Amino acid sequence: MISMSHNQADSLAWALLTIDLAALKANYRMLADRVRPAELAAVVKADAYGLGAVNVAPALASAGCRHFFVAHLSEAAALRPHLPAACAIYVLNGLPPGTERRCTRLGVVPVLNSLDQVRRWVDAARWGKDRPPAALQLDSGMSRLGLSPAEVAMLAQDSALRSRLAPCLIMSHLACADTPEQAANANQLKQFLSLARQFPPAALSLANSGGAFLPSSFHLDLVRAGIALYGAAPQQDGINPMRPVVRLGARIIQIRTILAGTGVGYGLSFRPRGEARIATIGVGYADGWPRNLGNRGTVHFQGARLPIAGRVSMDSLSVDVTALPANSIKAGDWVDLIGPDQPLEEVALAAETIPYEILTRLGQRYDRIYLDDDGDPMLCPEKEAT
Ligand SMILES: *Cc1c(COP(=O)(O)O)cnc(C)c1O
Repeated sequence: MISMSHNQADSLAWALLTIDLAALKANYRMLADRVRPAELAAVVKADAYGLGAVNVAPALASAGCRHFFVAHLSEAAALRPHLPAACAIYVLNGLPPGTERRCTRLGVVPVLNSLDQVRRWVDAARWGKDRPPAALQLDSGMSRLGLSPAEVAMLAQDSALRSRLAPCLIMSHLACADTPEQAANANQLKQFLSLARQFPPAALSLANSGGAFLPSSFHLDLVRAGIALYGAAPQQDGINPMRPVVRLGARIIQIRTILAGTGVGYGLSFRPRGEARIATIGVGYADGWPRNLGNRGTVHFQGARLPIAGRVSMDSLSVDVTALPANSIKAGDWVDLIGPDQPLEEVALAAETIPYEILTRLGQRYDRIYLDDDGDPMLCPEKEAT
């Protein structure tokens, strides 16, 4: 469990996002052990799922991670200076036309997703050192990114093109890895292996976080984990073996007592039947807190569930604290929005979405603390730079 109340007490802000880098590293080591002898890569796209790639990625590197995946070249460029040279950065979405030279100069590895991307990359190789490394993605059945079986066949027949392409990694992505009983998983594995066989031997990668919990035949050479590193359950079976990494707390700004029938918030959509006490905190939908949690979600205070009363505003929301004994809660007290009593999965379920979306929407408005191995707040690169 994350213990950080002293950090909250020290905070000068109304809301605080705490990211436990020790838990993150423990999750990395646990997954790495699980998939060995396959290697474990970290997916740090979308600013490490909203948790801050320039802090998260170096922590993972210190835990032994050598392969990092982002979605965009701009994400790779921002991350490159923060990682040791021995760490490879892969760009999952591949390269928009005209960015090939920039990619080579940065020394990052594009994931080539189509024959067009393969041709452009091979042509770009003429500018610099021979055959810069590239990964190749094959579509094994998700119909999203990667060379189709027809394109694989065309590439296999084009020996001139193929001789100039030396993929360091051949990869694909599972559509149903979070539901092991789905036959699609075995079908994708079979299809991926038969497509990959048409290329010279290269490292193979198919599994994401969910895939790490499928049989070891899915792990191949490299597993690409994202969400499980950040503490969310890798599969839909309701079991979460990961340590929580994120805690989101907020202080009560103000508490008021209202008479029966008095409306709360925009549209006055909450009207208590009796006299009620309403506490307001400084977290709203502009902080990524889902607006559809109005009159539906909860926050937690010392083990008690407090229902959200009325709509979620842009910068604040209100909760009904009537059930708590008077004087047991006051302005300045901290409540948890994500924490031990209210895990990410519960918030996502209530908001009719997935933990991925809750995390990636958290945004840049919270004060943040990154905890080191001793559970102490550490200086993060962003803060050092200013
Ligand atoms: C996002 C992504 C991952 C990581 O998925 P998780 O479910 O977060 O582990 C792995 N591979 C690809 C291609 C991805 O797009």
